[in-house]
Amino acid sequence: MNTLPESCLWRDALPPATQDVPPAIADDCDVAIVGAGYTGLWTAYYLKRLAPQLSVQVFESAHAGFGASGRNGGWLIGGLAGQEGWLSGLVPDVREETRALLYGIVDEVKAVCAREGIDCDLAHGGVLYAARGDAQARRAALWLGELRAAGHGEADFCWLDRDALAARLQMAGAVGAVFSPHCATLHPFKLVQGLLAAVRGLGVAVHEHCPVLGLGGGRLRLPDGAVRAHWIVPALEGASGTLPEFGGRLQAAQSLIVVTEPLSPAQWDEIGLAGRPAFADLSRGITYGQRTADNRLLFGARGGYRFGGRVRWDFDPQGADFTGRAELMRTFFPQLSGVRITHAWGGSLGLPRAFTPFALRDSVRGVACAGGYGGEGVGASNLMGRTLADLMLGRDTVLTRQPWVRGDGTLASLRRWEPEPLRYLGYHFIRASFALDDALSQSPRVPGCLRRAVSAAADAMEGLMH
Ligand SMILES: Cc1cc2nc3c(=O)[nH]c(=O)nc-3n(C[C@H](O)[C@H](O)[C@H](O)COP(=O)(O)OP(=O)(O)OC[C@H]3O[C@@H](n4cnc5c(N)ncnc54)[C@H](O)[C@@H]3O)c2cc1C
Repeated sequence: MNTLPESCLWRDALPPATQDVPPAIADDCDVAIVGAGYTGLWTAYYLKRLAPQLSVQVFESAHAGFGASGRNGGWLIGGLAGQEGWLSGLVPDVREETRALLYGIVDEVKAVCAREGIDCDLAHGGVLYAARGDAQARRAALWLGELRAAGHGEADFCWLDRDALAARLQMAGAVGAVFSPHCATLHPFKLVQGLLAAVRGLGVAVHEHCPVLGLGGGRLRLPDGAVRAHWIVPALEGASGTLPEFGGRLQAAQSLIVVTEPLSPAQWDEIGLAGRPAFADLSRGITYGQRTADNRLLFGARGGYRFGGRVRWDFDPQGADFTGRAELMRTFFPQLSGVRITHAWGGSLGLPRAFTPFALRDSVRGVACAGGYGGEGVGASNLMGRTLADLMLGRDTVLTRQPWVRGDGTLASLRRWEPEPLRYLGYHFIRASFALDDALSQSPRVPGCLRRAVSAAADAMEGLMH
């Protein structure tokens, strides 16, 4: 890979918006939100739309979108991580209502963008989960079975054979793909900045460079004092460990991205992705990518966990993490040989022990929070922002009756992760088993019985995570 400084494409051409006159901090307010990522901003947005009379303040330790919201892969998914597990247990009528809410995320974000004049390069082209080789094709078949059991029809998720896939995406070794229309791609930081302007326009005071040190007793502790609030909303996701109250409930794990220089129309003819669908392969390594609005190829993959679940925002662009992703991208797309990589960056996401997102309201302590998106928070945060607004306003709506709501729960009701060093060892052991399975599944010379044994072991590891 060429030498390059660590830099995030999204924020390169779009510096954080500054305010000429920063708002004064009010000692008292109705709602104090900690963190100006999507969760914090969507919550503020829906609260003020429903109850304009409320005083709402947002406290952000850096600038809005500094965290995962300003540096993600730009997949806007109409769904929640782990949803199949609970969808399949719902009675049919309720399940249809829930599925409509999940799929409706993309249209809701589009509607807000239209209403608020937010141009975030949103393209509603669906998502292609390509199967690279027979092992991934078998996994696709199993997954489609789970999707059907959870009520998703052919129009929601379908199998594309090799030719049908090639007409949309040419990825080396792909034998087909699962396609879903319930996904869009966008420019994450443009969405943050648009939401920031929208909430400011609604009268929300956003205090940037203002870290919160702790919460409790209806107060936020700031470096220079405290703020009393009727409701406190920690919206920190991967950075939850910065507040001691979360102690081990949301773990930070890392994900890293590389981006090419803009490609020519002829290069895109060789790759596809007309209409800018999101894409991934079906390896266990969790890859993701998109064709950006300025015609670059963005490619990311999950990886990295720091002892104690410490959050991480700085990465060495010359490090093996990025080299590995660039190599993987070129394995998927040999068409990119000789193409320059211009940006490389990473960030932290939040993993809940239950592996599915939550929204909870603790009326006794005056705390409402949501998160645990497991790396799929661009769309989920919109749904959770709406849910939290209804929960705090005491509204009985279709949102507050959903399986992700922990009615009157407490932070303590969120399942804790295992203590260290078990967490660290477990994470790295599981990832190593996934990497081995992915590598063997791409090696035809390895005996089938060995491949199947490793795959079964990796399945068992995946089972342990639930
Ligand atoms: C590299 C990467 C790629 C990803 N790709 C995708 C994708 O393509 N699609 C998808 O759906 N999801 C993706 N995700 C996940 C998604 O970006 C997140 O789930 C989502 O942005 C979380 O939003 P949030 O507002 O909850 O948290 P964040 O955006 O992390 O916001 C938390 C904010 O809190 C601030 N903060 C931290 N501590 C304090 C404190 N003590 N006081 C005040 N403020 C504080 C931080 O500075 C930060 O701005 C990706 C994540 C990463 C890291």
